[in-house]
Amino acid sequence: MSFETLGLRADILRAIADQGYSTPTPIQLQAIPAVLKGGDILAGAQTGTGKTAGFTLPLLEKLSAAPATQTGGRRPVRALILTPTRELAAQVFESVRDYGKYLPLRSTVVFGGVSINPQMMKLRGGVDILVATPGRLLDLVNQNAVSLRQVEVLVLDEADRMLDMGFIHDIKKVLALLPKQRQNLLFSATFSDEIKALADKLLDQPTLIEVARRNTASERVTQRVHPVDRNRKRELLSHLINQGDWQQVLIFTRTKHGANKLTEQLQDDGISAAAIHGNKSQGARTKALEDFKRGAIRALVATDIAARGIDIDQLPHVVNYELPNVPEDYVHRIGRTGRADSEGIAVSLVCIDEIKFLRDIEKLIKRDIEKEVIAGYEPDPNVKPEPIVLGRRMTIGAGAGKNGGGRSAAKKPALGQKPKNGNGKTQQKDGAPRKPHTGAKPQGNGNRANAGKPQQARRPQAAN
Ligand code: AMP
Repeated sequence: MSFETLGLRADILRAIADQGYSTPTPIQLQAIPAVLKGGDILAGAQTGTGKTAGFTLPLLEKLSAAPATQTGGRRPVRALILTPTRELAAQVFESVRDYGKYLPLRSTVVFGGVSINPQMMKLRGGVDILVATPGRLLDLVNQNAVSLRQVEVLVLDEADRMLDMGFIHDIKKVLALLPKQRQNLLFSATFSDEIKALADKLLDQPTLIEVARRNTASERVTQRVHPVDRNRKRELLSHLINQGDWQQVLIFTRTKHGANKLTEQLQDDGISAAAIHGNKSQGARTKALEDFKRGAIRALVATDIAARGIDIDQLPHVVNYELPNVPEDYVHRIGRTGRADSEGIAVSLVCIDEIKFLRDIEKLIKRDIEKEVIAGYEPDPNVKPEPIVLGRRMTIGAGAGKNGGGRSAAKKPALGQKPKNGNGKTQQKDGAPRKPHTGAKPQGNGNRANAGKPQQARRPQAAN
């Protein structure tokens, strides 16, 4: 199947060819005709599936096919794309620009963390397509810099993340500013009760599109766990980067502080690195990402939210320096590699404190991840599990103290303690115990206890 059969005009097909894409991805095959037909859409797709082009291409086609009814001076915003993060907004905008480069449509992107004035100027000139994060969009509306009264198509991209990040009120405010008659496209990687409630409210008899369920989507990615002691992770990471001569590796930590510290340590080890997280200015984040993309730095250390939507073609290596406490985040993280046509490797450095997290992840992805102990970095069997501190007053795992965790030391810390033989990279498949004795229990804040409930309730915002 080729793009030519999907009902897109020649100028769009030419732009697609410029990107080097010849075959539509499954989500594109389904979404493009469905959006062109009209009507609302509920699409389950994670990043890496080609979903951005899935909504951008038909959007461009529709707007080109039916020119705006221009009332008054400037062009009205006809398509509004909302995204949870600045990075994702910037990347979606890049796609709109790339795919629309031969069309006479105008577009811009607005997000917080940068000066509002240039954005107001851009909007004053009139744009057909606006990509925005919700908070800044509302600021601009409040300042009369933009009107949403003529929006014909609304896209909510990564709607689950928007809810995770607490944007539901902003979204509702935006919805109230839109005309009733419009097409709504909702993209979400997961379908929590909250998303379903939003979809019920927002969508009118939507066409359902689902491709590659989230927990099986990353099959192209080779996943591996390296069991290691918590205080030797940094050493092992530098070893892996140097031994493997990794030139571009995205590394995840659980906290902003952890990202900063690791970045400094990698630099001390002679590995060029930068951190990207919510405490960094937008300028610093953009620069770090650009440096990383063009190969000026080898390691980009990120927290989960900051890394949302980071789109790097053919990113070869992702490292979970710390496993996420929300198992879905693991899938999001490893989805940064092995995208579209390329292959990738996702490596997790797992210490005894994280066995419960690992089990939850393996349950979610419905398979055991290969364990490989690296010779020289064998975990010490005498190390006891410790609680994991996520932020101030937020602790998970063994020995969480007052909040009811109760320290119960591992009787059998069996996370691949020894290589089976001493010849370097020794396989130790399925080394993790089925029932780790970490004594890890849901803690006071209920993070683990709420598994299965809407993510907003269990995501510790403090961690990002
Ligand atoms: P997305 O899921 O929108 O984040 O896209 C994931 C990646 O796939 C991006 O790097 C796109 O540039 C790339 N991509 C999108 N569509 C195609 C396609 N039809 N063929 C190859 N790569 C694609």
